[in-house]
Amino acid sequence: MEPTRPSSKPAKAFAPTPLDNSVRLGLFGGTFDPPHVGHLLAASDAFEALELDRLVFVPNAIQPLKTDGSGASAPDRLEMVRRLCHDDPRFSVDSIEVDRGGLSFTVDTLREYRRREPNAALFLLVGEDVLGSLPSWREISVVMELAQLAVLTRHAAKTGVDQGRRVWTRHIDVSSTEVRARVRAGWSINGFVPDQVAGYIAERGLYREARGTKQEARDE
Ligand code: ATP
Repeated sequence: MEPTRPSSKPAKAFAPTPLDNSVRLGLFGGTFDPPHVGHLLAASDAFEALELDRLVFVPNAIQPLKTDGSGASAPDRLEMVRRLCHDDPRFSVDSIEVDRGGLSFTVDTLREYRRREPNAALFLLVGEDVLGSLPSWREISVVMELAQLAVLTRHAAKTGVDQGRRVWTRHIDVSSTEVRARVRAGWSINGFVPDQVAGYIAERGLYREARGTKQEARDE
């Protein structure tokens, strides 16, 4: 089998900026309800392709464009993302949006990161499916000034980064929706999420009932 990883170090991603020698920090936001191996491997590919120094998972409190009620509470999602990252030194988890509560606007998070890390090169990682909704994000022009957008694009053969804003990631056909549906159907989620996340879902009895029923009532 041919290796899918590049044999030599890729060129620094994206056009050089005045910040090019500073810390390269990736922010990966999402609902992570629950986090799964697709998130983990996409993060891993992005970490390498963008030559990040750190990649921070940022679970949202309430996603402004997904307000239909979440399966798991924000503290549960936060804990699952912590377990996803485990003790991987490349990754960390920031509770900034969960702590802030309410609707999570990326621009608020980026402003805080710019304040905390004025010299960092910030990369905002978003999935390709999120692209269409970008025009409706709050203060999108400020978002684009504060961070470089890196679009995670699933591809069967490529990894690395192109000249624009795309980061090629391996194609892992799994979604949180599917994981929730499998739990609800009583099917195994072995391999879909890391063991420590599966253990937490089982312990807490998450996703056993459809959204908006007893599970949500219990979390209130
Ligand atoms: P849902 O099925 O509930 O919509 P999801 O699996 O897409 O959830 P999110 O928390 O919405 O998970 O995803 C966070 C980010 O991770 C998004 O930018 C999304 O595009 C990206 N993402 C989700 N699944 C994958 C995957 N299998 N491979 C790469 N990126 C993914």
